[in-house]
Amino acid sequence: MQLLDGRALSQKIEIKVTTEVKKLKAQNGVTPGLAVILVGNDPASQAYVNMKKKACDRVGFYSVTHEMPEDISQDAIENTITMMNDNPNIDGILVQLPLPSQIDETRILELVTPSKDVDGFHPYNVGRLTTGLDGFVPCTPLGVMELLNEYDIDVKGKNCVVVGASNIVGKPMAALLLNADATVEICHIFTDDLKKHTLNADIVLVGVGVINLIKEDMIKDGAIIIDIGINRAENGKLVGDVDFANVSKKCSYITPVPGGVGPMTIAMLLKNTLKAAKINASEKA
Ligand code: NAD
Repeated sequence: MQLLDGRALSQKIEIKVTTEVKKLKAQNGVTPGLAVILVGNDPASQAYVNMKKKACDRVGFYSVTHEMPEDISQDAIENTITMMNDNPNIDGILVQLPLPSQIDETRILELVTPSKDVDGFHPYNVGRLTTGLDGFVPCTPLGVMELLNEYDIDVKGKNCVVVGASNIVGKPMAALLLNADATVEICHIFTDDLKKHTLNADIVLVGVGVINLIKEDMIKDGAIIIDIGINRAENGKLVGDVDFANVSKKCSYITPVPGGVGPMTIAMLLKNTLKAAKINASEKA
């Protein structure tokens, strides 16, 4: 079994991004800028935003976080997004999800200008992804594809089972795999007999939020396991959706949690923001 080391790869990517940021500053006088909108006091969301901000600082981006109270109005968030859409120093806009229940999340995500949609959640970018066109791709599944690529794992013709079908993880993950010529199945909470599906998989990619959902009797020998889940175990430790101790004895490759997909997500946010900044710089030139 070999670990797919997302932490190491993300550090390599950060070095590349840092070099490119220096070049962009020297040649175009441009500093990539990311605006983050954080609503409420959810500790996990605060921790993610903090990690994203630190990563921006490390690579030399300009970043600003708009923190808003839990009881904020729809209008107030929309006004902030409109301001960021119009701000020439901002190349990427990220709305940390989930939003409180009084907020219409769809309207918020649709308001972000597609060219600044570095999370790839706007329907315009979702459409481009599903039709195989260039655009902004959600960071977590994009990070998984980069990690597979780093270890020369070609998904073409492979049976891939994606467990979890959310708009931010499972669906874009399936679209990317399909675009790379994999055979793709998507399972979710209503899938009957999950094991029947995962047992057939060359690659299992799970992003659900259930500790130990994938056990060793649910995978075939030598399968590749991508654990996207992030859960807090009773002992306070971060764990994924896979029973790592037992599954790792049977599979060929596996992502650890932490240190697998998580760091890749942040690395892809940096890459997407740099991409947006380069496009904006070339349009201004
Ligand atoms: P979500 O709640 O929006 O979606 C969960 C999906 O899992 C749904 O499609 C649901 O049908 C499915 N599901 C739930 N229980 C299931 C079960 N018992 N069997 C099969 N399918 C089941 O969650 P999300 O936002 O997509 O996040 C999923 C997980 O991925 C969470 O643990 C989250 O923390 C993690 N996540 C990790 C990263 C990262 O960077 N590694 C990024 C985003 C989300």
